[in-house]
Amino acid sequence: MKLGIVGGGQLGRMMAQAALPLGVKTIFLDPATDACAGDAGQLICAAYDDAAAVQQLADQVDAVTFEFENVPPDSVATLATRKPAFPPVDALATARDRWFEKSLFQKLDIATPKLALVDDQESLEAGVDRVGLPCVLKTRTLGYDGKGQKVLRKRADLTDTFAELGSVPMILEGFVDFEYEVSCIGVRNQQGQCVFYPLVKNEHDQGILYRSQPLTNSQLQTQAEHAVKSVMDALDYVGTMAFEFFVKGDDLIANEIAPRVHNSGHWTIEGSRCSQFENHVRAVLGLPLGSTESTGPVVMFNVIGRRPDVQQLLSIPGVHWHDYTKSERAGRKIAHITVTAADQTQLILRADKVAGLLVNEL
Ligand code: AMP
Repeated sequence: MKLGIVGGGQLGRMMAQAALPLGVKTIFLDPATDACAGDAGQLICAAYDDAAAVQQLADQVDAVTFEFENVPPDSVATLATRKPAFPPVDALATARDRWFEKSLFQKLDIATPKLALVDDQESLEAGVDRVGLPCVLKTRTLGYDGKGQKVLRKRADLTDTFAELGSVPMILEGFVDFEYEVSCIGVRNQQGQCVFYPLVKNEHDQGILYRSQPLTNSQLQTQAEHAVKSVMDALDYVGTMAFEFFVKGDDLIANEIAPRVHNSGHWTIEGSRCSQFENHVRAVLGLPLGSTESTGPVVMFNVIGRRPDVQQLLSIPGVHWHDYTKSERAGRKIAHITVTAADQTQLILRADKVAGLLVNEL
């Protein structure tokens, strides 16, 4: 079997690594000649909207999936008419646009921050009257790692922000005074079978994910799984999905979904019986899903901008080094490290050593 993947970054690379034992080969479409997934499968090097390349990909594979949500809609539509393509077109379109996404959450009774639609300076003023200060102005599309958004704290902040963010369609959200951030990763296959991984606590540095660690909270886990399942069922979703939430007391407040494998699920490679990557491949190929049971204590660190001393790192027991072979550049995710241990005390000791070796450049 051959799986086509649009996007050839580390997510595609790790999908390919999970696909191989299943006897599945991968072909990527990516404009970068040095796309890091190219080490793990065949690479078609062309723009995402190159009609001939999209056709070439469709011709060579049994099914298609996507590494990111901003694939040009025409390319998604072309692929979906020629081969089974998952997640479905509508799911990608919903996740691409913060307004569509949050409107779906509200329709499904999933708690969100207060919301207003902003199309110009006038609707921004009206939105702030409704939502209140502080609030967060975000572009509806193309925001990631905290880019394309700004916190408004006082009336004077309204003056230039709409123009600064590009005068494009935006949404305004009430500022959530959260205690911490979590994500829940779920997978749904073509038969509607759903599985969920344990909730993960996520820590960011300057908007970029730095550390993810599973947590045990059955009350929040139930809420999260209910929300993920509602969204996946509503979208007739197939594949892995990550749902990010803010935690306030006993409540989850929805932030956003990612219609794909997610950085906060990289720990599942060593920390779960079947990883988010393998389950994604299984789902899009119509196979039964694997167990999401945890194998033991685990934590994941992102390596951003600069590599640590790998000799020292690998001398720590329980360290799993995943180098994407990307060149070093400030703010770029170039590798991740998963730390496993027999118990929480051992995990903390090992994780502290790893954290001490990181030389991230943001
Ligand atoms: P996003 O791109 O929407 O995930 O936002 C990036 C980060 O900004 C989140 O991980 C939060 O730390 C912060 N953030 C986003 N929206 C809000 C909000 N409504 N209230 C408070 N913090 C937020």
